[in-house]
Amino acid sequence: MWAPLRNNLKRLVFGAMPASRFLRRGPSDRKRIALTFDDGPCPQTLEYLDLLDQLNVPATFFVVGDRAERYPELIQQYIRRGHQVASHGYDHQRFSALTIAQLDDQLRRTELAIGPQRTMQPWVRPPYGAMSVRSLTQMTASGRVVAMWSFDSEDYSRQDAAELIARCTPTAIQPGEVVLFHEEQAWTYAALPTIVKQLRDAGYEFATMADLFGA
Ligand SMILES: [Zn+2]
Repeated sequence: MWAPLRNNLKRLVFGAMPASRFLRRGPSDRKRIALTFDDGPCPQTLEYLDLLDQLNVPATFFVVGDRAERYPELIQQYIRRGHQVASHGYDHQRFSALTIAQLDDQLRRTELAIGPQRTMQPWVRPPYGAMSVRSLTQMTASGRVVAMWSFDSEDYSRQDAAELIARCTPTAIQPGEVVLFHEEQAWTYAALPTIVKQLRDAGYEFATMADLFGA
């Protein structure tokens, strides 16, 4: 499709999406935010979980289906420790590049691997945030909630704890923010205690995305 037309169409469809099916930023009436971690589970997951226990921070994990199949015990650990688990696709492909049947397969296999979610509807975060109008419509029309983020820590490209700490400050992060982080990254792990401390000192509380949105 001609690019400007496609962009206008995208804006129209994304703009008209019911707020309850397309989540980006939570309510801003309270100093509350959600930390989210993509791409697990992996061998380092338990270290992240121990750290979050120490920090007393509930979080939301968007997990990849084939990794969830490989580490079922870690899926149970997320849940047992009070975190929210949701889908991040089966093998981290761009949803915008998939056929309807392929996307359906990605969603179903991942949901099967992670088991029942704590929200009424299954939640999914597309890898890279990549969606076409068709894939977005397919997800929401089949009763799924698309859970994006409002603040990108950029921990994928800024592979440095000090830089992450400098980016994720109480002045940069606003009430209701959904913050994007990733698993299996030593610099993210190293930065977390200071990020949590500086936000907490500024009066912020932490919630799972489901709790932040009251889902
Ligand atoms: Zn990802």
